[in-house]
Amino acid sequence: MNNLRVAGALALTCVVVTLLGWSVAESRDAAQRATTGDFHDAHFHLTNYIQEGADIHDVVRIMGGRVGRSTLFGIPLQQQWSYANSGDFAPTYYLQSDAPLYYYSFTDAYIASVYRSLNAQDQARFDPMITGFNPADMYGVDHIRRVLRTFPGVFTGIGEFSIHKEFVSSKVSGETASLINPALDRILDFAAEAGLVVILHNDIDMPFAKTDAEPVYLAQMKALLRRHPKASIIWAHIGLGRIVHPVRVSAEAAERSPSHNQIVEAMVTDPTLSHVHFDISWDEVAKYAVATPETTSRVAAMLNRYPDRFLFGTDTVAPPAPAPYFAVYEMWQPVWRLLTPEASQKVRIGNYERLFNEGRARVRAWERANVKR
Ligand SMILES: [Zn+2]
Repeated sequence: MNNLRVAGALALTCVVVTLLGWSVAESRDAAQRATTGDFHDAHFHLTNYIQEGADIHDVVRIMGGRVGRSTLFGIPLQQQWSYANSGDFAPTYYLQSDAPLYYYSFTDAYIASVYRSLNAQDQARFDPMITGFNPADMYGVDHIRRVLRTFPGVFTGIGEFSIHKEFVSSKVSGETASLINPALDRILDFAAEAGLVVILHNDIDMPFAKTDAEPVYLAQMKALLRRHPKASIIWAHIGLGRIVHPVRVSAEAAERSPSHNQIVEAMVTDPTLSHVHFDISWDEVAKYAVATPETTSRVAAMLNRYPDRFLFGTDTVAPPAPAPYFAVYEMWQPVWRLLTPEASQKVRIGNYERLFNEGRARVRAWERANVKR
């Protein structure tokens, strides 16, 4: 009897292992089939600030053969339509109203549901991300854990979520997020434990910062990153924004104050920050990069020197058609032309696969160990 039970258990284990092995190999194949094309998109919003957006099946059509894989997230914040503020005008963007933004956690269930509406081959092209948590809430981390338990097999990471973001952070209702809030440390501790890839938006500086001034959030940001050496963290937009411009240094101060390029170079050569990558997404960032022939060659030189540390992303929001979606990639053409084949491949495709494949595998392993099915 005992022997029979053991034999039965062994047979069952073999079936489960075979099934698991098959599905892992199958999704790896599908992911590999999707590696052709111009780029993988490390920063893509399916929905906007009022939680509306493109149909995922239309997005797959827009990606076509040009985009192999893509991150998939909404926006964690909802712009309130306050009748008292804008009357019949319905704001769709945070700059269109003085009313607050609030965390809209349903976004994660929505993203999981649209991901599950895809066939297996298309699913393999996406890395869904959890965003609907409040990083100023000590319970924020519990939301992330709950999403993984509710939708196992779906998510690869967390973000893009924001701590300091021009015009946005000050509009979020409730406590203002901060890099020194232990609620954020709890979130990054868990990201490290579960293997979740983190996409973090944090402006390096205040808007309209003065020339030669030390960027206000840089020290806190580096301290935060150093407190979480086991988390895989992508600093979105290299810390830049629409009006948070690259750090400016006058000729007189160049000896003592580092420029934006020097700040980034110091970080990518710092062994305590080797777990940190930078995404070069957003058309606002592309504008800085290709502003002049000098900026273009400076940026290209940085990518050529440190090709393992940067990822391209569009940061498009709910694109309605191919033209607006691919516009950001086209803006980068002057830089693409100056890259070595190795740097070009890594920034557009290779680094995405390295980080997100590892994230996927680690999160699936965490789920196997922690989610009862
Ligand atoms: Zn974004």
